[in-house]
Amino acid sequence: MTMTTNTMGSAAATHNLGIRADHRRNKRQARALHQFPTAALNGINNQFSQSPVIGLDNSSIQSGMNTLSDFLSNGSSSGVTPNSATPVLMNDKMNSFTPKQFSATSFETPVSMLSPSKSQAPDSYNSPYVQLDFESLTIHDMSPIVPTQRWEDQLVYLTKSYGTNSSKIPPLPSTQFYCHEEDGNCDPRLLASSMCTIPAEESLREATKLPLGLTVQPFTRTIPTEEISVIKLNNSTVTPSILTENYEVGPLRCRRCRAYLNPHFQFTFDSAVICNICNVKMKLANEQVAPIDVDGKRSDYSIRPELFKGCVDFEVPSLYNAIPDKETLPLHYLFLIDVSTRSIENGGCISFIHSVKRSINYIRENQPNCKVAIMSYDKNIRFYELDPSFERCREYIVSEIDDCFIPFNSFFFASTIESQNIIETTLDQLASTIENHMDLHLSDNCYGSAINAAKLAFDTFLGGQGGKIIAQLGSQPTIGSGKVNTLNEKAGKTSLKPDLSFYKDLSKSFNKSFLSLDLYVTAQSFVHLANVGYPSIATSGVVKYYGMFTYERCNFILCKDILHNISIIKGYQAQLKIRASNGLSINKYFCESNNNSDEDPIIPVITSSTVVDVLLKYSDKLKKDTKLFIQAALLYTDINGVRKVRVINTSAPSSSSMTTIFKFVNQNVIMRLMIRQLLLKSHSLDFASMKKSILEDLSSVAAQYRALISGNSNKQFVTADTLMTLPTFMLGFQKSKVMKSTIQKTFNNDRISDYFKYFTMNQSELSYKLYPQIIPLHIPLAGGDLSFYDANYQLLRISVGSLENLTVRNSMSQIVNGGAYLIFNGEIVYLWFNENTNRSLLEDLLGVPATIPIEQIKLVENKLRKTGTRINKKVAETMRYWSQIVNKRYIPLVPLRPQIDSYYPNVIGSILIEDYSMSKMDSLNEFTASINNLSSTKIQNKQFIKTSGNEELDITHQKFVQF
Ligand SMILES: [Zn+2]
Repeated sequence: MTMTTNTMGSAAATHNLGIRADHRRNKRQARALHQFPTAALNGINNQFSQSPVIGLDNSSIQSGMNTLSDFLSNGSSSGVTPNSATPVLMNDKMNSFTPKQFSATSFETPVSMLSPSKSQAPDSYNSPYVQLDFESLTIHDMSPIVPTQRWEDQLVYLTKSYGTNSSKIPPLPSTQFYCHEEDGNCDPRLLASSMCTIPAEESLREATKLPLGLTVQPFTRTIPTEEISVIKLNNSTVTPSILTENYEVGPLRCRRCRAYLNPHFQFTFDSAVICNICNVKMKLANEQVAPIDVDGKRSDYSIRPELFKGCVDFEVPSLYNAIPDKETLPLHYLFLIDVSTRSIENGGCISFIHSVKRSINYIRENQPNCKVAIMSYDKNIRFYELDPSFERCREYIVSEIDDCFIPFNSFFFASTIESQNIIETTLDQLASTIENHMDLHLSDNCYGSAINAAKLAFDTFLGGQGGKIIAQLGSQPTIGSGKVNTLNEKAGKTSLKPDLSFYKDLSKSFNKSFLSLDLYVTAQSFVHLANVGYPSIATSGVVKYYGMFTYERCNFILCKDILHNISIIKGYQAQLKIRASNGLSINKYFCESNNNSDEDPIIPVITSSTVVDVLLKYSDKLKKDTKLFIQAALLYTDINGVRKVRVINTSAPSSSSMTTIFKFVNQNVIMRLMIRQLLLKSHSLDFASMKKSILEDLSSVAAQYRALISGNSNKQFVTADTLMTLPTFMLGFQKSKVMKSTIQKTFNNDRISDYFKYFTMNQSELSYKLYPQIIPLHIPLAGGDLSFYDANYQLLRISVGSLENLTVRNSMSQIVNGGAYLIFNGEIVYLWFNENTNRSLLEDLLGVPATIPIEQIKLVENKLRKTGTRINKKVAETMRYWSQIVNKRYIPLVPLRPQIDSYYPNVIGSILIEDYSMSKMDSLNEFTASINNLSSTKIQNKQFIKTSGNEELDITHQKFVQF
């Protein structure tokens, strides 16, 4: 850092690049290591444009997206009707549709297409429709079979929106729905409780045997996709903020519990306000007072979104900055490339460089205030100066990897606009050296030291403000800090946690510096994922592990993954705080950054996929039958450097009726909390006891329900109808790779990669992961089936008459020889077909002539090519629907052919979770029977918790009516 500019300047002038800073503390000198031949430099641009990979410029990203999922969460140019708050129905021949305008705050239910005539209801199938009008169908009436329940739930929300004013259970995470906020409660995709009616005291909660907690997704995509209102600090804006205490102090907050102003703050006639969280009354300053009407509403209610919206952003003053008294900055990115031999050999390195180039293009076009830096590493650490006045790349090489320094003091981070040429030249030259100078490559890699040096660079240039490191790793780190030796490999078989303290300590210091790491592992042999990937998981980053990376198979997917992960970034330097009404407090945030404690977790970089699960506890009894409030406040800096706090509010009634409590359980949040708890116990890899614990938990819930509510029934499986499919999803978890007892070395990476997914998957992704959705394509479909229902291209339509045909359970017995299926597991869409599949169907769908043997059918770039046929359009719309639900820009389409694709056995095993598995795991029937048996035994042995509220059984019906 103290190296003089002059020395560097002259060295650079002589050699242009390849400058080695082989330093001693007192005598830092730079010398040339190698020089790129000018001819190679001149040719590089041509090479790039001819390369099949680099040929994917921005325009082809867009065209690729058109086929699949060209929506962007931050605005779209995909031809979607821009006015998202006005979902007009698609105009088609189903003339029972009456397009109706939907207002922003509520919208009317359009005339239903779903008044099924009784003859439409399939009689062989256990259908509720015979008795029920579809519009009034609730989770309580739905099928206990996951695939059927999914369609039923989607059908319900085709014709109506979800209103947030009552203790209804939110739609399933696999359902796309329009939400209208009521009563100041947010869209449940942002914040949802595991219990929509909260037990009035811990003993009642305990008697349900269910966890009380929350799932928070502060930046998830909601529908309508209107922008979250920003309450500005500055008086000159459209929304003047007299409700800030003053401009230095920030938004109005409760003086006692520090809750933020929200729609449930109660303004009183005596110029005061009462906090909804802790009930403390505060006097308002004169300028904050407004006249109040008979309903208690302020006269300025309608112009202040913070008084009626469930979720708003407040701009906050410098007092709230991540580093006090230091100005906030736009987000900074650092790309870290593994240029060691093994990373180069399998094409991982070159694939990553191409992806970096496209990522930087994306940043230039979409995040123009963000700056970028480039580093690489083998046995040395290499820095690149991105000075816009340079014509050639300047590379500085530091060999003292564990005593690293930054060899220059400007243009480490560079504007993607001003430095566009030098950034491109640097990446081109790097690619050229890799492809043309194989003799120069070094086999050792110092990954641990390199990410440490990346942190040093952030700390040096940005004063600890943090940002995003996007790193690639091509093989096991062999030298420097965090090198992994063979002995460590053994340790990797017995733990999911890092055994090297280097990676744990590094993760802590990353969080302190608001640094997040995304890691792309392009190795072709074992790398110790539990160690090298840990800093990503602990800093809210992602780890992408491609198994045996090959250029042909993975190049396109790698690029899409990186672009996607950049496009979903919403901010950084974030910290989450949950506040709840008196009597409820935080037990733990499930976050590695705070060691799963009750400390407010730091989220160095936050994305639209970020999800935090929170377990609550009772600190006191709650008032019965009152409204309880929950507020999530996320302090963050947006990607342009504006400091804000996102305040998300919801409410739920309390109750002491067990029937009511069970009736309003949100199974999805329950499932997430159960899994997070289990994962905490998973480090020892004692899978037998984990399985036992799953069975024990589920049978305890069933026993409590039977003992306290349903009594002894003749039904085969008795549990609350709100929890009907919980065993199925938990069986899915039990069958996931993280729970497999195999301890082969390579397999262990699959396990750890799977384990990591549970930290990063959002609600919808997890639902599809645990129980993939299978859609048959060879069945007769009605004209409107599998096409978009609304003009915003959000809701996928199926007709009630097709429901039976479209329901495929995840069992081999349901897969028809000669059929064709689309299967989605949250990450990948598989297309299942075999040699008996109707070739006309494949021709219509994929545009492949019947003469091509099925083993030769390829899906180029894992995309569905447009063929213009009906089935092709349906599949394209289904894929887009899925990609929107899981909030992904892109989902690859991959063929799944028995006896042809090498991954077939592995993949099909993870899909057919209802079957008895190869690893001797129960079928769904066996699993359900075990739960029933164990719960019966518990009841017989009186092993259940009685509540004083048992006598309420006879008045429960009346209780329901109150909600
Ligand atoms: Zn308060």
